[in-house]
Amino acid sequence: MNLILLGAPGAGKGTQAEIICEKLNIPAISTGNMIREAMKNGTEMGQKAKSFVEGGNLVPDEVVIGIIKERLALEDCQKGFILDGFPRTVPQAEALDKMGVRIDRVIDIEVPDAKIEERLSGRRVCEKCGASYHVLYKPSAKGEQCAKCGGNLIIRKDDQPATIKERLKIYHEQTEPLRGYYGRTGKLVTVQGQEDIAETSRLTLAAVEA
Ligand code: AMP
Repeated sequence: MNLILLGAPGAGKGTQAEIICEKLNIPAISTGNMIREAMKNGTEMGQKAKSFVEGGNLVPDEVVIGIIKERLALEDCQKGFILDGFPRTVPQAEALDKMGVRIDRVIDIEVPDAKIEERLSGRRVCEKCGASYHVLYKPSAKGEQCAKCGGNLIIRKDDQPATIKERLKIYHEQTEPLRGYYGRTGKLVTVQGQEDIAETSRLTLAAVEA
């Protein structure tokens, strides 16, 4: 099963990708996590991406398309994958089509902007393993430390209030048109993102199996 998760930043794509990944035993591929990892390691790509990410902007299409092309060619993707955070623009979706990648289902997790702002401002991520938490909705069982690896929980630079507004603006301008793009293929299923993570994953898994 080859899946795409669409939705605004903070709609819960990452959390749902982790759940589907365990359930279907296919890798969850997050371009955001790959870019952050490259930034942490100071690679050439990471250095190029840094100012875009921290300013709440999208990294240029050719950079992310290159990352995805290499990742999808790896052995573990041959039995299926979940794309979380890619494509984010129409040219990225077109590039995926040009690569000859078959997509079975596109799940769009819909959440109102006001909720997104509340979610992103309360988000905490593990600086070591990248696991994501929320101070109210998904607190770590270990307080300020990651429940999975014990790493410190931090606020992402791009989760600062002004940057959140910029990311939402870019989402509406550049990513939302993908609803139309995939709507035309008949593969798009829209799920209303719920407060309750388990309820959202029930709806998401039903959409995967639909
Ligand atoms: P995310 O964790 O998915 O919210 O991604 C964090 C940041 O990485 C985004 O705000 C962008 O700057 C960058 N990024 C991740 N995926 C993409 C993509 N498909 N296209 C462009 N930029 C991306």
